[in-house]
Amino acid sequence: MAKDKLIGVDLGGTTIKFAILTQDGEIQQKWSIRTNILDEGSHIVPDIIDSINHHLDLFQLSTDRIIGIGMGTPGTVDFDNGTVRAAYNLNWSGVQEVRAQIEAGTGLPLTLDNDANCAALGEQWKGAGDNEPDVDFITLGTGVGGGLVMNGKLVHGAAGSAGEIGHVVVEPDGYQCTCGNKGCLEQYASATGVVHLAQDAAENYVGKARLKEMIDNGDEVTSKIVFDLAKEGDYLANEVVDEVAHYLGLACANLANIINPTKIIIGGGVSAAGIFLLDRVNQSFQKFAFSTAREATTLKLAELGNDAGAYGAASIALQSGRTID
Ligand SMILES: [Zn+2]
Repeated sequence: MAKDKLIGVDLGGTTIKFAILTQDGEIQQKWSIRTNILDEGSHIVPDIIDSINHHLDLFQLSTDRIIGIGMGTPGTVDFDNGTVRAAYNLNWSGVQEVRAQIEAGTGLPLTLDNDANCAALGEQWKGAGDNEPDVDFITLGTGVGGGLVMNGKLVHGAAGSAGEIGHVVVEPDGYQCTCGNKGCLEQYASATGVVHLAQDAAENYVGKARLKEMIDNGDEVTSKIVFDLAKEGDYLANEVVDEVAHYLGLACANLANIINPTKIIIGGGVSAAGIFLLDRVNQSFQKFAFSTAREATTLKLAELGNDAGAYGAASIALQSGRTID
């Protein structure tokens, strides 16, 4: 039987998302399960295997028709050995033999990459990237991640850390980052970064603003509240959004100067602020980008939402051509 289907898996700290796609990247089935991180995350891989086998049964889909499984995972991927380490949000401490276990449990070839890279490739292939060959992706969530697609392929670099745009320094000696460095983009453009900027702005502001009142009252302030207040015209919240946009636009400009993509796609929870944020990021981008890069690169919002990772995972399975025969 001809092989004509792909399985994309997006492994996250709370949910594992699965999709069955055609070779052209059309999702035909999707489902998800909760991520059970108990017992040092030892249930995760067996749960993935059971869920794939169960659903192939349920959909009466023979493994003969599956080209391969692709999976995006947190942590650091060893591409040669198919292992994952340092995936702390999965409670995985040591090196996990993910590929060997899933291939043995399903009888299907598995290709792995990190979750941000998979989301980048998904958006490039089926989302805002319009399948153009040179597209970069930045995701703004609890952290800031990214992925670079060049000539239609993900760039990994010497140690697999290419595209870690969250740790580009945008403010020398700025906010302390979890990576040990100071002034990383992640500390200014993630959900927690936006709140940090808001707290500092409130502390140094003597005028009247709803955002300042909330912070002075000790009310819980989230990045969404900051953006919502800014949209309502709150002066201080707008100052904060301008700062976030300044840093993001600066990082995008430097990225465009080096990589020269046609598109930089911005996704993740913080990007739910939408065109309101993007317009201001674009102003900063126009200011800092070198003229050739400025003309060639368009900033866009992500289009696939939660499905980006599964699309990209399916794409790496297709691209790798891995077999286990
Ligand atoms: Zn950092």
